[in-house]
Amino acid sequence: MPKRLTNWAGNIGFGARRLVRPRSLDELRAAVAGTSRVRVLGSGHSFNRLADTDGDLISLADLPRTVEIAADRATVRVDGGIRYGELAARLAAEGLALHNMASLPHISVAGAVATGTHGSGVRNGNLATAVSGLEILRSDGSVTTLDRSDPDLAGAVVGLGALGVVTALTLDVVPAFELRQYVYEDLPEAALHEHLDEILSAGYSVSLFTRWSSADIDQVWLKRAEPMTGDFFGARPADGPRHPVPGMPTVNCTEQGGTPGPWHARLPHFRMEFTPSSGEELQSEWHLPRSAALSALGAVSGLRERVATVLQVCEVRTIAADDLWLSPHHERDSLALHFTWIADTEAVLPVVADLEKALAPLGARPHWGKVFTTAPSELRAAYPRFDDFTDLVSRFDPRGTFRNPWIDALFG
Ligand SMILES: Cc1cc2nc3c(=O)[nH]c(=O)nc-3n(C[C@H](O)[C@H](O)[C@H](O)COP(=O)(O)OP(=O)(O)OC[C@H]3O[C@@H](n4cnc5c(N)ncnc54)[C@H](O)[C@@H]3O)c2cc1C
Repeated sequence: MPKRLTNWAGNIGFGARRLVRPRSLDELRAAVAGTSRVRVLGSGHSFNRLADTDGDLISLADLPRTVEIAADRATVRVDGGIRYGELAARLAAEGLALHNMASLPHISVAGAVATGTHGSGVRNGNLATAVSGLEILRSDGSVTTLDRSDPDLAGAVVGLGALGVVTALTLDVVPAFELRQYVYEDLPEAALHEHLDEILSAGYSVSLFTRWSSADIDQVWLKRAEPMTGDFFGARPADGPRHPVPGMPTVNCTEQGGTPGPWHARLPHFRMEFTPSSGEELQSEWHLPRSAALSALGAVSGLRERVATVLQVCEVRTIAADDLWLSPHHERDSLALHFTWIADTEAVLPVVADLEKALAPLGARPHWGKVFTTAPSELRAAYPRFDDFTDLVSRFDPRGTFRNPWIDALFG
């Protein structure tokens, strides 16, 4: 029996006829030309059916790796299959950096960008905001190149895989920098009410972790250049390394305790050397205007006992506003409420629906790559450029080669 093709978490069994792994652009072009239905699979870290197809799934993992740094050292051009961990190592060796990273370096750049994946930091846009150029192989075999002078770029970047195969991306880069990572424990709820903006702005990247067993915050992870001493708004410095989920091995986590280190060894929470083949978890995340942060935390706190029954850990992050059409951070500085659930879809979905109901009046937008049940009509209302994106999909892919039921339900 051939092994069932699933996403990383194993909660989605793909309906694809086969997985195709081209080793060159010519092979890729032939693979797209040879089928009427196709989707690209990145590293498979999404938790819903957006990458699925009943045609062919194409992985770009076996394409030759491309890392071309521009002569002015302001951008890098990469292939559509590279993962952040590989790219980060290459950039660091050249004295360059990305402005931010997600919690895990194992995800593919094209897949992360396609869903508006983000790290944290009040001044940091999501990872898609670094994209200054895209090369997209379309169903007719042509390649469209977009840069920031083209108004379609802002629509195509968070593209959900619906426009074509992203064969290359150009990303903004910055000079390499160092950060220190600190973990504090037991931040009192009162500190959130009195100092939330100061807390969220206290580092280059700040994450709050809680299991919602109380309204206090279990852990604060601060990534910043400057050293820190003493308590943090009533929270105590951890007396050793911590994992966001208590009891899980801390050896998988990036170095804490304030030792300075390169950006790519501090911005992700997890080390590249630790390779999680699959995860016993589901994830959901909602993005809200930062101005509604306390109301949003209050709304979750109101469902605390229900949430805690299916929760492994909740992470609170911030993301700066951008102009990308389908970015969950479109035109608003955002607070992200992330939930790592237990691996039990049946038990998790009713809680997801309750959270959606509680957060909808505050303007919640779900993470495109995670578990959500929001109706297409609500998503359309949440995104001012939604109809423009629908037009873009029809223009780029008039034959519907890159569509699937998930895309049709939203943009059909
Ligand atoms: C353990 C874990 C940690 C995570 N941490 C974070 C986090 O810190 N922040 C956050 O925001 N999210 C996070 N996520 C979510 C994750 O970043 C997104 O699901 C992201 O899309 C995963 O990238 P991928 O390469 O696995 O994409 P996939 O799930 O494989 O695909 C996602 C979409 O991208 C499309 N796609 C992929 N490659 C291409 C291409 N070359 N051309 C066209 N379309 C393409 C696919 O068709 C699909 O529509 C996490 C997920 C996991 C499992």
